[in-house]
Amino acid sequence: MAEAAQPSATIIGAGIIGICCASYLQRAGYAVEILDPEPPGTMCSYGNAGGICPGSCIPIAGPGMLRNLPGWLMDKEGPLHIRLAYLPALLPWLLRFLAAGRVAEVRRISSAMRALHAPTFACYEPLLRASGSTDLLAKRGQLFVYESADGPAHDAFGLSLRRDAGVKVEILDQSDLRDLEPALAPIFRSAVFLPEQGQCANPGRLVANLARAVERDGGIIRRTRVHAITMQDGKPASLATDQGTRPVETLVVAAGAWSAPLARQLGCKVPLETERGYHAMVAGADTGLRTQTIWAERKFVAAPMEEGIRFAGTVELAGLAAPPNMRRADLLLRQGRRMLRHVPEGTVGRWMGHRPSLPDSLPVISASPHHDNVFFAFGHGHMGLIGGSVTGRLIADLVSGAPPVIDPAPYRVDRFH
Ligand SMILES: Cc1cc2nc3c(=O)[nH]c(=O)nc-3n(C[C@H](O)[C@H](O)[C@H](O)COP(=O)(O)OP(=O)(O)OC[C@H]3O[C@@H](n4cnc5c(N)ncnc54)[C@H](O)[C@@H]3O)c2cc1C
Repeated sequence: MAEAAQPSATIIGAGIIGICCASYLQRAGYAVEILDPEPPGTMCSYGNAGGICPGSCIPIAGPGMLRNLPGWLMDKEGPLHIRLAYLPALLPWLLRFLAAGRVAEVRRISSAMRALHAPTFACYEPLLRASGSTDLLAKRGQLFVYESADGPAHDAFGLSLRRDAGVKVEILDQSDLRDLEPALAPIFRSAVFLPEQGQCANPGRLVANLARAVERDGGIIRRTRVHAITMQDGKPASLATDQGTRPVETLVVAAGAWSAPLARQLGCKVPLETERGYHAMVAGADTGLRTQTIWAERKFVAAPMEEGIRFAGTVELAGLAAPPNMRRADLLLRQGRRMLRHVPEGTVGRWMGHRPSLPDSLPVISASPHHDNVFFAFGHGHMGLIGGSVTGRLIADLVSGAPPVIDPAPYRVDRFH
């Protein structure tokens, strides 16, 4: 009897999401080809804060948002910046974003976030083992630190969401905090510690390792951009790329912040924006900080990485085309130096990345409602590293028809209509 031909899948995008999809599709028996003009993991997945946190279940838009917005926008050192010229284009997304901040919506979104993030370690485990990357994940917990003594009380709603979701939460006073992280400057008087969270010591290296394992196992990674999707018999049959035409059997769109035009060509209109974020990284600097720590009032992260200390965060709404404003990275460095007792001098790297963000803080992980050979995996916003492994597994389940690892309903591509 002739052997059945191996099924194949083409993935557009070699960020953490595309590479995790490829890894899991290989495990489900698919031959995979990944198309991306950039080397794997060198766009948004490169410079993030490295948090891999099963207990991340607080949507970005919340009930207090509207009250805080004017103050943040007026404050040049605040965590949010909107380029005025971009406001008209942004407005429809912004209105949806604010609507997602209503209490009932926040509760619904929070439980979908928790469902997606809770199995993150379990879904990363086989990928880390197979790619020799287990050293890159440390489960040391995550700290939110406050200058005010009653900081956690101001975040009571968020804490209740975490507790309701079964996330372990510990409230620390100044002396507990000093014992846990003596490297922090003595300006912080209270903290929340989430002991079950994890930290990746080098997100760029993680994606590169996972990509090498995909290639070792027979996958092909082509450095080429997809320009157009060609239909035949009512469904995608090939892709027009910089290097000519590539045939397609099953297609997964995982092009991060650049996914919307591809989805539109496939009949799906999604309100995808980019929340641009920055980092300043002091190479070789050992500050003594062990835990990924968020300055809660200023909303940025100090992340100890294998190559130094990384201060990452801020949201800049200015679209995909505007050049970076590295003053935002400099601001992170200044604030980072206030946050820690000692940040040694060292070479400072400044970086900007495009978070792919949907207004309800949830990604699209979905079969297409129009074509049975098309799947979408994008829009992970602030949490793509956390969501990467489970997204890869869920996409492989949807493609192969296996029972889905989690209920895919909250992440449907057509939920915005
Ligand atoms: C400052 C900052 C801190 C962050 N901290 C964290 C954190 O601690 N934890 C966490 O979980 N997340 C964090 N994130 C978010 C996380 O980095 C993103 O959600 C994640 O990287 C998105 O991955 P992706 O694969 O969708 O996108 P990307 O990594 O951007 O990959 C998309 C790929 O698609 C390719 N592409 C685009 N268009 C085409 C095309 N037409 N043809 C072919 N290829 C194409 C691009 O070249 C790119 O390589 C942070 C983000 C920022 C900016």
